[in-house]
Amino acid sequence: MLKILKPARYINSEWNAVHKEWNEGVLKIALSFPDVYEIGMSHLGMRILYGILNREQDVICERVFAPWLDMEKRLRDRKEKLPSLESSHALKEFDIIGFSLQYEMNYPDILNILDMGGVPLYSKDRGDDYPIVIAGGPCAFNPEPLADFIDVFVIGEAEEAILDIVKIVRGAKGRGHRAKGDILKELAKIVGVYVPTSEVICGDFQSQHGTIINKRIVKDLDNSFFPTNTVVPYIQIVHDRIGIEIMRGCPHECKFCQACKIFHPLRIRSVKRIMEIAEESIKSTGYEEISLLSLSSGDYPYIEELARKLQEKFKPLGVKISLPSLRVGTFEEHNSMDTLKRAGLTFAPEAGSERLRHTLNKKITDAEIIEKSGLALNSGWRKVKLYFMTGLPGETYEDLDAIIDLAGKIRNVNLSVNPFIPKPHSDFEREGMEELGILKEKKRYLETGGRGLGARKNIKINFHSPETSRIEAVLARGDRSVGRVILKAWEKGLRFQAWTEHFNYNIWDQAFQETGIDPEAYLRKKETGENLPWSFIK
Ligand code: SF4
Repeated sequence: MLKILKPARYINSEWNAVHKEWNEGVLKIALSFPDVYEIGMSHLGMRILYGILNREQDVICERVFAPWLDMEKRLRDRKEKLPSLESSHALKEFDIIGFSLQYEMNYPDILNILDMGGVPLYSKDRGDDYPIVIAGGPCAFNPEPLADFIDVFVIGEAEEAILDIVKIVRGAKGRGHRAKGDILKELAKIVGVYVPTSEVICGDFQSQHGTIINKRIVKDLDNSFFPTNTVVPYIQIVHDRIGIEIMRGCPHECKFCQACKIFHPLRIRSVKRIMEIAEESIKSTGYEEISLLSLSSGDYPYIEELARKLQEKFKPLGVKISLPSLRVGTFEEHNSMDTLKRAGLTFAPEAGSERLRHTLNKKITDAEIIEKSGLALNSGWRKVKLYFMTGLPGETYEDLDAIIDLAGKIRNVNLSVNPFIPKPHSDFEREGMEELGILKEKKRYLETGGRGLGARKNIKINFHSPETSRIEAVLARGDRSVGRVILKAWEKGLRFQAWTEHFNYNIWDQAFQETGIDPEAYLRKKETGENLPWSFIK
């Protein structure tokens, strides 16, 4: 193990990790995040489910992350199966494997985890003796590209549905009845559950004939479970702190935004409950930083009161508080909160010009962005980061010039520019994706063009790869046949495609050609009335 990069990814027994006796009578669930440990362990949803499931007496819930390339080689060379962290049992020995679908570019890693765990990839090839494979998370809102590999999708907030699923699978196991088809039929009756196999009544067959799958939501955030005794890793992870969700959903409706739709409606956690969670979490983990999480934290209605109480309670203990997602319009009221960490502040104007911003329903003016950025820099924030998209419907080169002009009016600014992806369930879901050549030209224009940023020494620009965004768009908007491309990409050795250094556009291109699937079919504009692969998910 000493030759393996970051062995602490695999050794388990971290503070607050749960170890239960592995015996025949308990239901065994492997929670899997299809990326490395440091990313998976940073995800709050994974921690919530781990806590909910391990509270159940006759359930064992363990964790599995994607093995880094060196670990994969080691396991494959030794013909060993991918084990769970806690008990080192191979994945195929579990009753349920649950994947968290946070990012489409992780799809080949899902197949890799199944394969390395000794589990057949296709749902149809997994008989009664194999685990039931479940997946949930934002990407499950278009489940079709993975529908051949996953037995059960949870649409919406899995913490609501997971114990219903456990009850059915545990009941079947307790009765010694392991017929997978029968269990899937029972699971398909749960609200928010989609079972895609054609022999299951509530699956694709009926979805094409009008069955609607309604998402599951947590109605009362205050009374929902929160994992205060969460696992503390040995190594630094991406979000190495206590993350407390203060609000779920967003009061705004930006037209490109998928998150505000899938996390609708807006739910608010009370200041009292947040304070309880913060106190318990600090006590049981020893962390020295709390991050307040939500899609738009500045819109939390009691933010001043919360900041004051957190400051009174935790400043004497040396605990820092951070508030990562602020909207420009909500910044001013909170700039006096000296508990907030002041490394960098991110605003998301999304479009360079007020005209284009207006079409996105993004109600921020240039004057506000300039004023609030100045305010932030004057009151101790070290730099301002502005997020933009390019390739938006109706965008012109004047809008790109407007990005440059706006950035030029702010000192100490970094820009992050992402190609626009018309995501399922957003108001722009029927829009088309910009052609690759045009996206590359726009990137070049922004970086080095006549009015480009190259000449401005104080502005750094990070442009997300247009090639990666195009593949992400196909996987996000795909139908069931796109699963063949994912399989081919995995067979050709693609792993960790969310990582810039491992992304390989040429191999994706080959995968499309060899499966005879035209990516353009998924990237083009969809006419009103044209069926969308995700239209049965509500
Ligand atoms: S982009 Fe942000 S502010 Fe706009 S709707 Fe989405 S989450 Fe809310």
